[in-house]
Amino acid sequence: MKSTDRIFVAGHRGLVGSAIVRELERQGFTNLILRTRQQTDLSSRDAVDRLFASEKPDYVFLAAAKVGGILANSQHPATFLYENLAVEINVIDSAWRHGVKKLEFLGSSCIYPKLAPQPLKEEYLLTGPLEPTNEWYAIAKIAGIKLCQAYRAQYGFPAISLMPTNLYGPGDNFDLESSHVLPALIRKFEDGRREGREAVTVWGTGTPRREFLHVDDLAHAAVFLMQNYDDADIVNVGTGEDITIADLAQLIASLVGYSGRVVFDTSKPDGTPQKLLDTSRLRRIGWQHRIGLEEGIRATYQWFKELPRERAATVGRVS
Ligand code: GDP
Repeated sequence: MKSTDRIFVAGHRGLVGSAIVRELERQGFTNLILRTRQQTDLSSRDAVDRLFASEKPDYVFLAAAKVGGILANSQHPATFLYENLAVEINVIDSAWRHGVKKLEFLGSSCIYPKLAPQPLKEEYLLTGPLEPTNEWYAIAKIAGIKLCQAYRAQYGFPAISLMPTNLYGPGDNFDLESSHVLPALIRKFEDGRREGREAVTVWGTGTPRREFLHVDDLAHAAVFLMQNYDDADIVNVGTGEDITIADLAQLIASLVGYSGRVVFDTSKPDGTPQKLLDTSRLRRIGWQHRIGLEEGIRATYQWFKELPRERAATVGRVS
């Protein structure tokens, strides 16, 4: 990628897309194509085609997606499946039709079977049943991977797919109904500390294990792989380390300075027991994460604390 190449970041207002924009700008790329949903609805084939015809991007980062935590996913199956499929079909097909030099698709670690061996190797894709709480989203992301592989196989279109682990960082969704666990716990413990609450509730049993990657690291990997990787095989992007939800809760409570009790609401789902990525392929290509979990949580907490209070409850909310 040259610094003047035309680069379309689809989903530039989201957690991932905004981090990719920051990283591209940091590295001196000056010709970014960015569109809000109001300007270009990526679920509309005509709108996407018009955008590619007029802007003629050289490179595409496909980071636009309907995302949400364990509850949002299980409550809105049709929305998660339809919207993600529509965006993938429209953007990947238009990119190929309009001669894009390379497209990078951002997937998710939830594409792997619920009970696959850990750590999750890329070849475990489609070897078993999915975790039911997010299978709709996972099916859409698997379709995105297959679109990239199919367009590469049939048309020689250079499309690559990255599978990031659970991400967090500035710009995350802190809405308690639709967010993922890490921002939810930052908000719960911060509210608990401010209001002097005696107890804070954590969903599930606390025993599931999750791996967390700071979104700035993901963005760095995304730009690196766009420039250094060109193959049909998917690539996991993670840290290679995980933590139980109970330990994560303790860590966040101590970083936030909350000293009350932590109670577990076992009426809420645990989801998959473990979701740890094998990152050996990524390391062989030459990339490794840099931001440790504690450092990353501190920075995200700082960002959250500096938000105006009226925005803190709803920032990033998935409608
Ligand atoms: P997942 O990785 O797809 O399962 O998505 P989440 O990040 O939403 O949930 C991860 C784990 O954290 C699950 O076991 C949840 O039950 C648990 N968890 C604990 N407290 C919370 C919370 O307040 N919000 C969310 N979203 N998950 C929580």
